This record gives sequence, structure tokens and C-alpha cells, in this order.
Amino acid sequence: MRGLLVGRMQPFHLGHLQVIKNILNILEEVIIVIGSSQLSHSIKDPFTAGERVMMVSKALAENGIRASRYYIIPVQDIECNSLWVAHMEMLTPPFEHVYSGNPLVQRLFTEKGYEVTEPPLFNREVYSGTEVRRRMLDGGKWEELVPESVVEVVNEIDGISRIKQLARKEVSEI
Ligand code: NAD
Repeated sequence: MRGLLVGRMQPFHLGHLQVIKNILNILEEVIIVIGSSQLSHSIKDPFTAGERVMMVSKALAENGIRASRYYIIPVQDIECNSLWVAHMEMLTPPFEHVYSGNPLVQRLFTEKGYEVTEPPLFNREVYSGTEVRRRMLDGGKWEELVPESVVEVVNEIDGISRIKQLARKEVSEI
């Protein structure tokens, strides 16, 4: 059986990692969809799809998860929510089960007949993309919220300086 997890992963954090580990305790393979792949270089979506692919693949390798057990697939958003599941089906291997805590994602897959599970949240107050990005901006300890390899990717791409510069740009446009 193959499951599907969709998320923006801006950035990939320890909550995402725990969900993937839990899915792989139950299912043979997981498809990890990097959602909103067209977005990058904004405060809410600072990282490109390619950078997010690096984060996920390096974090899974760091945690000893074999590459034969997952697929990482970037998917762009589309205008029509009612066609989104078909868009996902076109771009991913076949899957039987969907994992998401996002109400819109849950609704769209349920309407098309998929079984949808809401994964339990781990430390959601801190294991959230919003909190990681907030700490990146404020000089807080974001590193403790993500796998070590994600810290390395963010450093390699000079991600902290990017997000701080974007904040200056967005403030100047208000
Ligand atoms: P996200 O990265 O915030 O979260 C992804 C999933 O990870 C969550 O649903 C949740 O199950 C899990 N998660 C996150 N933090 C966790 C924690 N601390 N503990 C346990 N689990 C945790 O991403 P998201 O916002 O849900 O991503 C949905 C994507 O689908 C977006 O890119 C959105 O644009 C896309 N989408 C697109 C369309 C369209 O194009 N028409 C329609 C619907 C959704």
C-alpha cells in the first residue's frame, strides 16, 4: 500500500518527519508532495521547490529511511480546487490513502473517494512552518525545530539572509 502526504514544507520540520515515520510504520511506501511548488522568495514561502526537495531527501537519509520507500514530487497549485485531485493523480504514482491535517485537502480527497487520515500533531506549537520562519526572522533557535540536514541546506543556500532581506522588502512595500 502507498500513502500520500502533501505539504508546503516551508521548511521541512520535525513534525513532518514524525508523520512520515509513522506512515512508513504502517505502509510500504509514501509519496511526499511538495505543494505550492511554484512559490518561493516570500516570507510565507521562502524556499524553492528544489530546495525543499533537498531538505526532505537529506532529512530522510539522515534518519535511515531508504530512498526506495518514498517519492518526492513537487506539484504546482492550480486555479480550480475541484480539479486538484485529478492534477495530483496525473503527477504521482497511484496511492490508496491520504494523510493531511489541512481541512481543504481532506475535503477534496474525501469527495473523490479516498480514505483520509488526520495524523496526530507533534508539538504543533513549535513544530510548524510558521514558528520556524518566525524564529529565522527574529534570530531565535529555529535549528532545534528541524532535522540537522535541513540546517545544512538552509546554510548552504544562505536562507537566513534571504528571509531577512525579504522581510525588509515586504515592509517597504506596505
Ligand atoms: P504544511 O506543510 O503546513 O503541512 C503538511 C502536513 O504536515 C499537515 O497537513 C499535517 O498533517 C502535517 N504536519 C504539519 N505539522 C505537523 C506537526 N507538528 N505534527 C504532525 N503533523 C504535522 O502544508 P499544507 O498547508 O497542509 O499544504 C497543503 C498544500 O496543498 C499547499 O501547498 C496548498 O497550496 C496545496 N493545495 C492546493 C490546491 C490547489 O492547487 N487548488 C488545493 C488544496 C491544497
